[in-house]
Amino acid sequence: MYYTKDTILFLNGKFIKAVDAHTDLYSQTLHYGFGAFEGIRAYQTMNGVKIFKAYEHFERLKKSCALVGIPFNYETEELVQIAYQLLEKNELSDAYIRPLVYCAPNMQLTQPSEVYLMMCTWEWEKYHGADRQLKMCISSYQRPNPNSLKMEAKVTGHYVNSILATSEAKVRGYDEALMLDMNSNIAEAPGANFFLEKDGVLHTPSLGHILPGITRQTVLNICRELDIPVTERQIKPEELESADSAFLCGTAAEIVGIESIDAKPFRKPWFDSLGASIQEAYKCQVLEKSFSYVII
Ligand code: PMP
Repeated sequence: MYYTKDTILFLNGKFIKAVDAHTDLYSQTLHYGFGAFEGIRAYQTMNGVKIFKAYEHFERLKKSCALVGIPFNYETEELVQIAYQLLEKNELSDAYIRPLVYCAPNMQLTQPSEVYLMMCTWEWEKYHGADRQLKMCISSYQRPNPNSLKMEAKVTGHYVNSILATSEAKVRGYDEALMLDMNSNIAEAPGANFFLEKDGVLHTPSLGHILPGITRQTVLNICRELDIPVTERQIKPEELESADSAFLCGTAAEIVGIESIDAKPFRKPWFDSLGASIQEAYKCQVLEKSFSYVII
């Protein structure tokens, strides 16, 4: 599903076949979830194959490592070049790129002195499937307390929380979970950020308890360009009742509308929502096409 016998990946300075790659079973990453990663997308644009926000993603990878004390000293430019070479070697254009910084053998709970870099790529459709709106539920799992973990870092172990929330939502018959933070404010989905529309204004949870998404920032920039008012603030789940529409955004998910939360549908049809315009603008931006938008 992710690789074939011909797939090439990057491992510690070399491009090798995925089937020939080996890892050490005594890595702290495997045992304790202590590693950092990124999720990046490349698109076949009007101007050739382009990795969307490549610098931002690799900068965040370095920041994630620095925040938790993983010694990782690749230059951002070098990482971008590796990613482009990887796409070329695998003859991929519309693809997902996954760099993973993982630790050398160390069974102690001390910071590692040596780390490894793996980067791979595969074709991945929109995370939630074809264009449709999601049925979500409020998860019984909260996002972790920022005093326990570095929530602004994309660290492998944090995704235990994401897997628990996603699995619970699916068992309950929903497409996706929406998690609250420790103060019962809306935080984010297991792998995407959240926006809500009310009376012509978009609202998104402020930073602190969430991953500062690169797509979230792109949406904020699109709002500025399109003159859509937007606020970053604490949002209570009770506010969902009077909201007009809502959507998730993330590199893998892109922009995806939400049909209902806890079986309560939003009143505005998705295609009339601000989210639908943002979705179009985002599509154009990743494909490097021009976009025109008129507020009626
Ligand atoms: N929140 C979480 C928990 C995520 O895993 C992701 C995906 N990286 C996002 C938000 C969205 O981030 P981005 O837009 O940078 O992909």
